[in-house]
Amino acid sequence: MKNIRQVEPYVPGEQPKDTDVIKLNTNENPYPPSPKVVNKKLDLEKLRIYSDPEVTKLVNALARYHGLSDDQVFVGVGSDDVLAMSFMTFFNSDKPILFPDITYSFYDVWAELFRIPYETKALNDDFEIVPEDYFGENGGVVFPNPNAPTCVYMPLDNVKRILDNNRDVVVIVDEAYVDYAEESALSLLEEYDNLLIVRTFSKSRSMAGMRIGYAMGNPELIHALNNVKFSFNSYTMNYLSIELGVCSVEDDEYFKAMIEKVKNTREWFTNELTRLGFTYPKTSTNFVFATHERISAKELFEAAKKEKIYLRYFNKPRIDNYLRITIGTDDQMKKLISFFEKKLK
Ligand code: PMP
Repeated sequence: MKNIRQVEPYVPGEQPKDTDVIKLNTNENPYPPSPKVVNKKLDLEKLRIYSDPEVTKLVNALARYHGLSDDQVFVGVGSDDVLAMSFMTFFNSDKPILFPDITYSFYDVWAELFRIPYETKALNDDFEIVPEDYFGENGGVVFPNPNAPTCVYMPLDNVKRILDNNRDVVVIVDEAYVDYAEESALSLLEEYDNLLIVRTFSKSRSMAGMRIGYAMGNPELIHALNNVKFSFNSYTMNYLSIELGVCSVEDDEYFKAMIEKVKNTREWFTNELTRLGFTYPKTSTNFVFATHERISAKELFEAAKKEKIYLRYFNKPRIDNYLRITIGTDDQMKKLISFFEKKLK
């Protein structure tokens, strides 16, 4: 058949059908969403009408939460949707966009899909982004901070240097994991009109299945994003997502408590990994990127799966001896440590 678009899709982490697995492969939160979300009574008769195309309630809740105005916030169907829209909206140049060689593996897929030229810049040997690599002429810049799957955080001073050297193009900072990290780039928003910050409800807000993501930037960028969205699909956000998203934002106490819980487990777990001879970059996320010199990551990944413990393994240059391990509950991490102990005996 003629004229069929051939693309190589992004491959998400496995979602096993079995329910009795320890699932540490897609960076979900091991704790449920806020009780305000779980116990919310919704008027499902409202599904009869279209949802609010402007997503007013959720945009407003997020704007208030972050101390912004409504015209600085854009909401979409998970940050994947927001990022894809952002690629379409802001990366329109013959010059290549720039992102790290080891990073979220959706970036090159979108670049290919939207026919955006791109160039990757190598992380250094400590898996850090080298800011100077992003100073040359380009069509835009995108990176996660903290980066994934490496879990490494780039201090804001360096983010600032990248923004300073790219005043005429959009720099997207994907903050999917920032709630587990040192500092958000949000404080730079006022100073930099070329900064777009993208966040998700999938990790720290325990709502991966609800599909909510959002972007924050100056009103001109947000307006441009909305124009692209309304050229595509007016009703991306359904009624349930809007209502339950607001409930999550309104329960800050629970949100912060769950982040602390994951961070405490992370502290215990990383110490245990060290005791067992693993090495890993300092993690600023709800996952660890670990390697062991005596046993290959692939072997560990496959053996763990047989024991119904799902981890993430990337068969890619530079990282094919690393495992990405999501922080689960204390009990799940204890079981994983026992498994490692047995394997390393
Ligand atoms: N950015 C990064 C760096 C991620 O790891 C993920 C999770 N796969 C996303 C964005 C997308 O998350 P979601 O679409 O669930 O908001």
